[in-house]
This record gives sequence, C-alpha cells and structure tokens, in this order.
Amino acid sequence: MAKFHTLKVKELTRPTEESVAVTFEIPDELQNDFSFTQGQHLTLKKDLNGEDTRRSYSICSCPIDEILTVAIKKLEGGAFSTFANDELKVGDEIEVMPPHGHFYVPLDPSNANSYVAFTSGSGITPIISIIETTLRTEPESEFTLFYGNRRTSTIIFQEELEALKNRYMGRFSLYHILSKERQESDLFNGRIDSEKIQAYSRLFFSTEAVDHYFTCGPEEMMLAVQSELKKLGVPDDRIHLELFTSPVGKLGAKEKEITHEKARAEITVVLDGNSMTFPYDSDKSILDVAFDNGADLPYACKGGVCSTCVCKIEEGEVEMDVNYALEPDELERGLVLSCQSYPKTNKVKLNFDV
Ligand SMILES: Cc1cc2nc3c(=O)[nH]c(=O)nc-3n(C[C@H](O)[C@H](O)[C@H](O)COP(=O)(O)OP(=O)(O)OC[C@H]3O[C@@H](n4cnc5c(N)ncnc54)[C@H](O)[C@@H]3O)c2cc1C
Repeated sequence: MAKFHTLKVKELTRPTEESVAVTFEIPDELQNDFSFTQGQHLTLKKDLNGEDTRRSYSICSCPIDEILTVAIKKLEGGAFSTFANDELKVGDEIEVMPPHGHFYVPLDPSNANSYVAFTSGSGITPIISIIETTLRTEPESEFTLFYGNRRTSTIIFQEELEALKNRYMGRFSLYHILSKERQESDLFNGRIDSEKIQAYSRLFFSTEAVDHYFTCGPEEMMLAVQSELKKLGVPDDRIHLELFTSPVGKLGAKEKEITHEKARAEITVVLDGNSMTFPYDSDKSILDVAFDNGADLPYACKGGVCSTCVCKIEEGEVEMDVNYALEPDELERGLVLSCQSYPKTNKVKLNFDV
C-alpha cells in the first residue's frame, strides 16, 4: 500500500464554486491496487513550489461504479487545495497512493439496517460514497443524513444527493441545515450542535433502531455528535468518526504539547521488502529521523490522523503520542503510526509493507 503511483486526471467538475471534483484514470494494471471500499481516502502528492506536498482526500465516488473521484474544497491560503482548484487540468499527472482507511462498516445485502450520518461542508465526501454504496448494496437498509452548510450555493453534491433521494425514496432521508440562509423551520437554521442533535433524535430517528452513525466535518460538530449520542446511550463501536485535521479540541486529544527526552536506539525500517538500519539519537519521531537518514517512507498529515505512515512493529517497542486513525484491533496487531512513534527499546524494527 505504501507506494505512490502516477495517475492522470481524467475529468474535473465543479460541485460548487469553491470545490473541485477530480476523477483519475486508472490503467488496467493498477485496477486492483486502486479498488476501494466506501469511506476510504487517497493520499495525493505534488511538488508545489519546490515543496513535497502531500494531502489526504476521501473518495466520494461509489466503488460499485469503479470510478475513482475525490472532491477538494478550496481553503483560504491552503497550498494543495488552492492548487487543485485553480491550476489542475485534465491530463495532468499526480502521485497517488492506493486507497486506505477504515471509515466504513462491512455491508451485506441481507442487512435491514438503519444508518444516520451528520456532516458539514467538505465532510460530505466520504459520506456520500458510504450512503450510495449502502443503499445500492443493502436493499432493505435506510439512511438518514443531516448535512450542514453556510448556504444553498455552498452545498457540495446537492444535485447528487437529491438524485439519491429520488432514486431511494423512502430509504434515504436528507435534511439540510444552513447557517447563513434562513429556512422555514428553526430546526434547520444554524449549525449542527448539541441541541439540534437531541431534537433530531426525538423527531427523525430512534437511537435504539439505528445500527451505525457516521460523522465527518468540523471537530466541534463531531464532538457534539459523539457526546450527544453517548448521552443517548449509543455505544462507542456504533459511532464512526473521520477527522480531516488533527484535533485541537477534545476528540481524544492530549491537553498539552508533548515533548520527548532525547533517546538512543537502533532503528530498522522495511519498505517494499528492502530493509534499512540507522542510529536514532534524537527527540524527533521515528518517521522524521528515518527521513533524515534518507528513507523515503510514506506519510502525509504527520498529525496522527490520516494513517498514511502506518507500519507494523516487528521488534522492540515504541511510544505513540496521538492516534486518531488506528482502531483498537489494529493496535493489538502491532500497527503504529510512525509519525507519532518514539523508541522505547534499544532496537526497533518497523515494517511498512502492511
Ligand atoms: C483522512 C482525510 C480525508 C480528507 N478528505 C478531504 C476531502 O475529501 N476534501 C477536502 O477538501 N479535504 C479533505 N481533507 C483535508 C485535506 O487533507 C487538507 O488538509 C486540506 O485540503 C487543506 O490542505 P491545503 O494544502 O489546501 O492547506 P494547508 O496549506 O495544509 O493549510 C492551510 C490552512 O488551513 C488549515 N486547514 C488545513 N486543513 C483544514 C481543514 N480541513 N479545514 C479547515 N482548515 C484547515 C491549516 O491549519 C492552515 O492554517 C482530508 C484530510 C484527511 C486527514
């Protein structure tokens, strides 16, 4: 999974004025590498002004169609999102890592499940893929979406969502919440916050009947979703979160900046079957020290969010600062995020071919 491949941009569309949807051309020999599950994301890499710039983007297309599309919202002053929105052209090439991530639940055509999602802004990208794939795969299941935006003109995938609503009438319920455009009912004016989540749970879904919840968007909204659902008795394993940035609030974040004592160790990293050993005499993460020693390891956010730098401990122990990406069962299997890992033993061996 660790390898980047050069993919050509096949199509560009504009879901809104401030976002661009990018569809990649997948050559036959890479079809397997780029098959994906709903809710997964890609890591894109581009040299921008001499800087190796890597960012993660959720796949918004449906895996059943075998089309690979991401949607990128332009951020004021944002390096990659501005490049993608303003400069990227059909036929351009970008380095893309095969899909990864686990923001999904396995689907089964015999399920008659109920799913609810809360999202806002560009957080819709993995959610629309999850919704479409679920409705197409599980004919007896239903989905309810609460989608927050500033105004109608900034709703990414508005038409696509309407089309899904028409196609899956009775199985897909869609509620738009707008913060800068008034709608008839106050229930849908403003932002998705604790009060609204409580109101929606009384009016539009019954917590006992919902099998899984998904949330992706601003941290504040995700925190409210998590805490209100917990108050309503929903167990953790039914609430699925996807973060786009390292949290600054309390989504499991540590309270203060973490510093490390300088330590010494011998580190071995394995990538594409090749191993490389180097000395560690530092207070930096293993990923950073590996880089200083010339190892071209996969990474993107360096904030413990995107999981691009995931690897398996084969010898020794490490301490991780933060982890917003790996599930408990993955930690049990010895997976760690190298951007957050510091050696605890004299020898550490990390395998990136996972
Ligand atoms: C798993 C995952 C999936 C993602 N999926 C998508 C997606 O589908 N669509 C999408 O548009 N983005 C997505 N992102 C966010 C994306 O990776 C970039 O962080 C975002 O495009 C900004 O990159 P940039 O280079 O333009 O901005 P940068 O140059 O990195 O940053 C510019 C400024 O914006 C702030 N900033 C960075 N990211 C965000 C953010 N998401 N919201 C608000 N402020 C921010 C930074 O702190 C900085 O101040 C995803 C991130 C992750 C980890």
